[in-house]
Amino acid sequence: MVFVMDHCKTGVYDNALAQIRKAYKFIEIDENTVKLLESPKEIFMASLAVRMDNGKINVFPAIRVHHNDILGPTKGGIRFHPDVHADEVKALSFWMTFKCAIANIPFGGAKGGVAVNPKSLSLRELEHVSRAYMEAMADFIGPDKDIPAPDVYTNETIMGWMMDEYNQITRKQNPAVITGKPINLGGSQGRRVATALGGYYVFRELVKELGLDKNITIAIQGFGNAGKNMAKFLHEEGYKVVAVSDSHGAAYKKDGLDITSIAKAKDARVKGMPSKISLCDHCEGATEMTNDTLLELDVDVLIPAALENQITKENANNIKAKMIIELANGPTTKEADEILKKKGVTVVPDILANSGGVIVSYFEWVQNKYGMYWTEDDVFKKLEEKMMTSFSQVFHSMKKHKVSMRTAAYLVGLKRIKEAIEAKGGHEWLSK
Ligand code: GLU
Repeated sequence: MVFVMDHCKTGVYDNALAQIRKAYKFIEIDENTVKLLESPKEIFMASLAVRMDNGKINVFPAIRVHHNDILGPTKGGIRFHPDVHADEVKALSFWMTFKCAIANIPFGGAKGGVAVNPKSLSLRELEHVSRAYMEAMADFIGPDKDIPAPDVYTNETIMGWMMDEYNQITRKQNPAVITGKPINLGGSQGRRVATALGGYYVFRELVKELGLDKNITIAIQGFGNAGKNMAKFLHEEGYKVVAVSDSHGAAYKKDGLDITSIAKAKDARVKGMPSKISLCDHCEGATEMTNDTLLELDVDVLIPAALENQITKENANNIKAKMIIELANGPTTKEADEILKKKGVTVVPDILANSGGVIVSYFEWVQNKYGMYWTEDDVFKKLEEKMMTSFSQVFHSMKKHKVSMRTAAYLVGLKRIKEAIEAKGGHEWLSK
């Protein structure tokens, strides 16, 4: 198993480029900036050699992409998934650049991954893969260089191991090298639920704007950290979550699911390991269905919170939701985006909807650098403020330019990046 850049293309990076290209015509932007933004700055690849419990060595391909560092050190998660490949990680790093720019936090974009199925590993093997990743990438990572965080199938335990490995390599205590750590290793209060809570704030604002009431029905695809906590917030606030899913399948109940008990059942697992429990086994009275059927349910709001390329030209026409909140990164392909736009579906793009995670990662980094720690209330208040500001700036840009919320979000991010490039001095300064 090796990464071959063009060999394993899935169109995810092309999708990302198609999104930003729609924004260029609304902003004065020079070709040099476009070149910088469309090409990742650096890509590092490694083969992680890990001794398995049976004594044999397995080799796992690993990657870290720094997309752009105009606004600050690069930032973004590390995912462990069997399908991780370069094209996808490039796109994910690109989205991080814009996510940070829209949230107005001083970071550029990065992303990393290991092509591994963590569910097939023992806890010891998982720790070794995590430490091997940091060992391979330590030269390209650092609190003022590139700061990783959790992503799909990685979590705070893994971030703790990686921080420890980095500190051993550099012989310094440097908690700010990674975010999403356990609280007793310098993690931030509220980081675990931050992606979902940020998404909830955006949902709440949009519901207000569209004049919807509490009777609306909601389907959520994916029950990882983001999907599960989003379901919990919505349930606690009295909204009806009628369908949820995980990699095993989906469960639907017309009158709403008991999210608290499903979340509890799903959480019963070895600390640090991804859950192998199927939620369908714990949804009493619910109808089982596939993940694909969930996407096409007759609901008001659809929340994709799993992987990329879920809403495509094949199923976009069958989507019945009026509102989509992209808690996953890149769930909608470029063709699907056009179809949804024609159907009048409001899509809150990933680079806004799921930015709560990286915002609280920023708070964690600030607290680590400052050496002083905030309460959960402080974190939530600051997150709410940031999400409301980003939402209203994107909403305003959408109305002003009469574009989709996705294009509007890119415009907000592009403006910040463009101003930073100009402030550093471009070639036109030399020709003056
Ligand atoms: N992996 C998360 C994301 O896609 C969080 C990144 C971070 O906190 O740096 O936004």
